[in-house]
Amino acid sequence: MVRAALRPLALAALLGGVCRAAAPAPLPVERFDRTEYVSAVDAADRLGMRLSWRAAGRQLAISDSAHRMELTAESREASVDGLKLYLGSSVVSRGGRLYICRADYERRLLPLVRPAWCGAPPRAPIVIAVDPGHGGVDHGTENLRLGVQEKTVNLDVGLRLKRLLEDAGFKVVITRTNDTKVELPLRALIANQAGADLFVSIHFNSLTHDTQTHGTEVYTFPLQAQRSDQSWGERENDSEPLASPVNRFDCWSSILGDAVHRSLLNTLHTEDRGWKTKHLAALRALTCPAVLVESAYLSNDAEAARVASPAFRQQVAEALLAGVRAYAAQLELLRGGQPARAPAGAPPPAQPPLPPSALAPLSHPTRPGSS
Ligand SMILES: [Zn+2]
Repeated sequence: MVRAALRPLALAALLGGVCRAAAPAPLPVERFDRTEYVSAVDAADRLGMRLSWRAAGRQLAISDSAHRMELTAESREASVDGLKLYLGSSVVSRGGRLYICRADYERRLLPLVRPAWCGAPPRAPIVIAVDPGHGGVDHGTENLRLGVQEKTVNLDVGLRLKRLLEDAGFKVVITRTNDTKVELPLRALIANQAGADLFVSIHFNSLTHDTQTHGTEVYTFPLQAQRSDQSWGERENDSEPLASPVNRFDCWSSILGDAVHRSLLNTLHTEDRGWKTKHLAALRALTCPAVLVESAYLSNDAEAARVASPAFRQQVAEALLAGVRAYAAQLELLRGGQPARAPAGAPPPAQPPLPPSALAPLSHPTRPGSS
């Protein structure tokens, strides 16, 4: 797997000049199969990045001294700065050119390489919502051979993260502190009512009848009208035509998801299984950026044994803290170095407007890709 270093602060400083620049005009749009696309050539040109073919007509890289995106024709799998992600629509090939779904370009890729073009950022995070998944009669997944139950380790990591965040000066709202079931929509409501600036949901993964698969995945809510990662191949199209409240924060969830993804892999040295998307009920109604993490597979005995260790669970919590801090640092930079801490009693931040492309429903892709 690729090991990608955390983006150095020097790089963030380098981007500072760009960060305060106004977003350029939208790229020319082409429509294929009722979906809007932008050409990779136009994107590279607008970004001031170099386009180079890795496999003629099929696989290309768009790069500069700070970032590198890799895209493959007829595939949803891409990479940014060495980490794997799954786009909502496949990259398509037309006349020897590759085209990227406009929504993916604007709200999944652009936030990672030109965050300053995403509009006014939310305030730097003060209140963090920590969501230990499952609880009570909802056990989540379980490794019966090793006696590791997901709801228990989720809560342990959540409480460790709460302590770390509070020690770092953040305020924390946690959706459960004991072994009780909390309905998924209630988790979002708890975060919203506390004025949370971001939401981190903690889970561990599993597969049925597969004890070999291992590694780390992070999830954000799918972009409006896009399928989730569960809805490709022969399975039904689960795209939703209307935007959910959390879609208002797509660009910022992308930056948060990447920061947490990068931090988990750098800390845990697990396999990168990618940044994916899923219509998660705990995330749908949130009024802040959100990410769900599946740090390791309990169905894999080696990873379950690691998760059983308190030292490993502390590492997960520390990686999540580092991811939140990297995201906070990015927002501070975008805001021109304003202090992260708002005065006591400061009102909750205004919500950023929906991007224009979120107001008009995007047609869902009809071309299935690899997932
Ligand atoms: Zn779970």
